Amino acid sequence: MGSSAPVLGCRAMDAATFRRLGHRLVDWVADYRETLEARPVMSPSKPGEIRRRFPTSPPREGGRMDEAVAQLDTHVMPGITHWNHPSFFAYFPSNTTYASILADIVASGLGVQGMSWQTSPAATEVEEVTMDWLRQIVGLSTAFTGVVHDTASTATLCALLCAREKVSGFAQNGKGLQSGEAPLVVYASDQGHSSIEKAALLAGFGKDHLRLIATDDDHALRLDLLERAVAKDLAAGLRPCALVAAIGTTGTTAVDPLVGMADVAARHGLWLHVDAALAGTAMALPECRYLWEGVERADSVVFNPHKWMGVGFDFSAYYVRDPEHLIRVMSTNPSYLRTAHDSEVRNFRDWHIQLGRRFRSLKLWFFLVDEGVDALETRLRRDLENAQWLKVQVDTAAGWERLAPVPLQTVCVRHVPKEIAHDEAALATHNLAIARRVNESGNAYLTPSVLKGKQMLRLSIGSATTERRHVEALWSVLNAAAASAT
Ligand SMILES: *Cc1c(COP(=O)(O)O)cnc(C)c1O
Repeated sequence: MGSSAPVLGCRAMDAATFRRLGHRLVDWVADYRETLEARPVMSPSKPGEIRRRFPTSPPREGGRMDEAVAQLDTHVMPGITHWNHPSFFAYFPSNTTYASILADIVASGLGVQGMSWQTSPAATEVEEVTMDWLRQIVGLSTAFTGVVHDTASTATLCALLCAREKVSGFAQNGKGLQSGEAPLVVYASDQGHSSIEKAALLAGFGKDHLRLIATDDDHALRLDLLERAVAKDLAAGLRPCALVAAIGTTGTTAVDPLVGMADVAARHGLWLHVDAALAGTAMALPECRYLWEGVERADSVVFNPHKWMGVGFDFSAYYVRDPEHLIRVMSTNPSYLRTAHDSEVRNFRDWHIQLGRRFRSLKLWFFLVDEGVDALETRLRRDLENAQWLKVQVDTAAGWERLAPVPLQTVCVRHVPKEIAHDEAALATHNLAIARRVNESGNAYLTPSVLKGKQMLRLSIGSATTERRHVEALWSVLNAAAASAT
């Protein structure tokens, strides 16, 4: 201290420049958000186009931030698909609210690691408070304790690791899965998210011990087939270990029969994990909670406030019934020291896979105090009504077919011209052409996807900016594309 001469070799931005550029970038983001609607939703960029704008080697000399900020518009924006656009109907809503953006600035500004309580007590305690708020918002009982994960994928991996260790009696403390005991088996529906398969493989169960159970006409897991699969595995000397229920599948938001699955889990001592990544947000609405009836009997539940809710990516909420078990599985402290109650504080590093952790709960806090639960409920109901409106249009229009129920905000359709109604290959080509037309028009963006051999157009509503008029426009664009697609 004392000397103001810059340290040789260290010429990072000073506070004055940070203020200037920071204000400019906040304006830039606000300008971007205000002009979102006028932009083509899907980036028209071709492979390599963005990469070619950048030098192939790193800058030797710094001090070029002004140039980089200007290049956001010229070099980066052409390659951006606008996820918060009101006509974004692809994948899933990924709402990143202003409040959540500001929280990210604060979290980065503080630059703290929240792995232990002591490394920043506020990081742990704000997370405890806000995750309890969130638990109340979605109507989970106090039997559940929450922790922030980065994504549902890692939470589901944690769940399967917890299942493995529970059923194997903590085999990880000895020979692990190499102990030669009967192989453990995981069950989920064939409509389950790919992260379930990935988690089962990474957790060492092996593809041969992952049962993807067929689904019914509504694309929900068939309980009779599940029971048969479990009985068959038991008869073969295998050990049923974990059951993953999808509440809102990725393809169609199908809802697995959770109560029946909880019965199966209880009967055979299986770990029950609920993947409600998208749909969990809907549980803020009391009228939607029937969709996950039985959730109170789950061992673990994950959902993503970083999808429909409004907490910017990444923010996944993982709720567990037995935090002590989670800690025993995730902690590398000697086992004789492992207990959730060995002090008055939580050390969240032992509640997931990685050690370091961002101060993510700031995003949930800012988001909730800004929007409030009442406005959140109103927005979610608007989205559900918009989906029902679209469903009615599809059901009453000639030439359109709906391929799944619409319990939430996703509508799965395809266009079926009479001449090719019985030609699956021609229907696939036709519907892919519609998707291409819509997406390349820039007027809306949807995801073409295949459901049980049928090419569908998946329309996912729920961007915070999407009003009825945008859904009406989508329906017009779809009809125009269907009329001209060959
Ligand atoms: C989006 C989604 C996931 C994956 O979420 P990530 O947070 O990206 O890992 C898992 N399951 C379902 C049902 C989803 O919709």
